[in-house]
Amino acid sequence: MTRLSTHDAIIIGAGPAGTSVALTLARRGWAVAIVEKSEFPRRKVCGEYISASNLALLDRLEIGDAWRASAGPEIRRVGFFSGEACVEAPMPHAKEGPSTKDGFGRALGRDILDLLLLQAARSAGAEIFQPCRAVAIDRDGDMQMVEIQAKDEQETTMLRAPVIVAAHGSWEPGALPSQLAKTNRPSDLLGFKAHFTGSSLAPDLMPLLAFPGGYGGMVWADHGRLSVSCCIRRDMLARLRKHYGHDGHIHNSLEHHGYVSAADAVVRHLMESCRGVSDALEAAQLKGSWLAAGPIRPGIRSCYQRDIFRVGNAAGESHPVIAEGISMALQSGWLLACELADAPRGRAGREAAARRYEAAWRHLFSTRVHAAAAIAKIALRPGSAALMRATVRNFPQVLTLGAQLSGKTKPVPGFA
Ligand SMILES: Cc1cc2nc3c(=O)[nH]c(=O)nc-3n(C[C@H](O)[C@H](O)[C@H](O)COP(=O)(O)OP(=O)(O)OC[C@H]3O[C@@H](n4cnc5c(N)ncnc54)[C@H](O)[C@@H]3O)c2cc1C
Repeated sequence: MTRLSTHDAIIIGAGPAGTSVALTLARRGWAVAIVEKSEFPRRKVCGEYISASNLALLDRLEIGDAWRASAGPEIRRVGFFSGEACVEAPMPHAKEGPSTKDGFGRALGRDILDLLLLQAARSAGAEIFQPCRAVAIDRDGDMQMVEIQAKDEQETTMLRAPVIVAAHGSWEPGALPSQLAKTNRPSDLLGFKAHFTGSSLAPDLMPLLAFPGGYGGMVWADHGRLSVSCCIRRDMLARLRKHYGHDGHIHNSLEHHGYVSAADAVVRHLMESCRGVSDALEAAQLKGSWLAAGPIRPGIRSCYQRDIFRVGNAAGESHPVIAEGISMALQSGWLLACELADAPRGRAGREAAARRYEAAWRHLFSTRVHAAAAIAKIALRPGSAALMRATVRNFPQVLTLGAQLSGKTKPVPGFA
């Protein structure tokens, strides 16, 4: 049996990009459906840091106070841990504006943030289909049909709307025209993340980690959880799993045929390559399991293709080395929703909204995507860690400058 449900807009994915656009459109009187394949709350591969420049937007989305009540400490210093080097510099203060009281960014677990945003979207009137996966999009005159499949159910539901928004991220392949094809290259970057309690890292410091074959970060989030996340090349990970599997130091249930688990290899590599990480985690306890995702797909894509709008990672993604993906997701969702809500209904209105949204997206995010690519390129180049260490030791101000270039102080249009 097939059920049919008609809406003004269908949003695929309930990460920060999807809920930002859904919430804003629902508040402007649109009949919105959100399709999300996972049950919430769920943890996610992400460093979980959000720049202060987003706080005015979180207030507009009406989750600012809840975010302030739960998020970890203010991050007032940016750091660099690589080899024996542990360097730090001031984090730039967010620009003057309504968010001045929140001059510094903080981190909040994605299990909490994404649920807060989804609950706000539900309160604003969005209809939520969860856990349901969007598996196909087909045109039906001026409308489009999205086929969704609920977990463990035979029944198919068809959602119908003139506006479709792809907010499904970029790390999973799938059959939708907006999803990216799978890659399997030695240079692919795989994402890892875990929470620890009892770390000795200074509460106001967010260090960038540079190590052979990858980069990462650490930051205190909510409830005494330290969020540790990183990206590592596929070929380096394979080498490490074999290397640590044969040296006889790790003996646990995950060791198999001479290979240790990816998580064991990653944490050991981080601790051996960065003294700051081994110091911070020396007495810490892993809370929950390590999560893995990817390969990640940094780059600028299209904001509108085949009559499908894209927000968040689906539209474009910066290397996580600058920790700006949540900001770009929230802000792109907001930008698109404002353009759609102000445009006349119908195809011509959608196309005009798409042109304005694409221009605003590039104006706001292109610099940080390119800055992140440049930093990641240096961090990933073999042998360049020593050069980075020398530069940062002699000129710690480059850390502050890097944070500025990555958009940490750039106000969201309409909130400056
Ligand atoms: C190691 C690492 C560390 C990072 N650290 C930070 C950081 O500290 N700060 C920061 O700002 N950014 C960080 N990022 C980037 C950030 O995680 C992403 O940019 C952000 O999650 C993108 O949000 P999104 O809403 O576009 O997509 P996502 O958060 O990926 O959400 C997409 C949602 O869509 C759902 N979905 C997917 N396919 C379907 C489907 N077919 N049907 C229904 N639902 C579907 C998924 O279940 C998911 O809930 C990091 C990334 C990595 C890899």
